[in-house]
Amino acid sequence: MFASRQRKQSWNRRSLRLLPCPPQPSSSSAAASYADALKRVPPSKRKAKNVSLVFAKNKETSSEEVKETLLKALAPSKIKIVIRNVKKLAKGGVAIECDSVKGTESILNEINTNQQLSNTFEAKTPAKRLPRIVIYDVDEAVQKEEFVTMLISQNEGIREQDIKSSFKLKSKKAGKFHWVIETQTKTFHSLLRRKTIFFEWHRLSIREFLRPTRCYKCNRFGHISTNCQHTETCPHCGEEGHKKPKCKNEAKCINCTEANLKYKLNHEIIHAATDPCCQSLFHETDLLITRITYGL
Ligand SMILES: [Zn+2]
Ligand SMILES: [Zn+2]
Ligand SMILES: [Zn+2]
Repeated sequence: MFASRQRKQSWNRRSLRLLPCPPQPSSSSAAASYADALKRVPPSKRKAKNVSLVFAKNKETSSEEVKETLLKALAPSKIKIVIRNVKKLAKGGVAIECDSVKGTESILNEINTNQQLSNTFEAKTPAKRLPRIVIYDVDEAVQKEEFVTMLISQNEGIREQDIKSSFKLKSKKAGKFHWVIETQTKTFHSLLRRKTIFFEWHRLSIREFLRPTRCYKCNRFGHISTNCQHTETCPHCGEEGHKKPKCKNEAKCINCTEANLKYKLNHEIIHAATDPCCQSLFHETDLLITRITYGL
């Protein structure tokens, strides 16, 4: 009993540090998600993917219909491109991955200059964002304005213009916060190589910060609560009409349940939507990685 509580505590600590989830012997899909997380390519080796996004101008069109029309209208052999992957997107579009920048340019060109296709579709490259780093357990007395100045004064080679402090998260340690900063790509890789930074009297641990946006109201990914179009759901069981403190139901993840129905998947669903081992979370994290520019 004691041993299992102790193990659970150490898992919580590990998940807080965004480490992969431990395998749970009782569930084969949890073990699979652990393996998935381990398979993830480290930031120092993440090469940019050549992706173009195609959306229908008519918002009613499903991603399946977009995909079918494109498969008929575009002949990769004619425009001499190699397609690596075509993925349906949740918001009614498709992502086409080519093997080269030139391939992506050809697709954009083919769709946006062809009169018939450009009337129906819009093709673009995904907007990229800078990578982020989390610095663990900074003293709560440190203010946002002085945080960056303090950071660069003790850590050689980091320039003020290359980092921007974003926000802080509560730490489990009393009087501490985790700070999240956005960095230029070179600084990002050099910080990750150091693994720790000097800050006043301490050496603080750092790690890449990868957290997909999840709505606090409906618990789905991809939007925040102020833009939520859904009814509020309980993060523990996914049902409407009550909040987590009043929940008496068994855990059921709303995202994995919906993904199973929509994409005929086999995700394990008996966990809360906030669970760090959720397979939908892994999927969203992988998508997030494709939107980050690593400069490699
Ligand atoms: Zn929502
Ligand atoms: Zn509930
Ligand atoms: Zn889940």
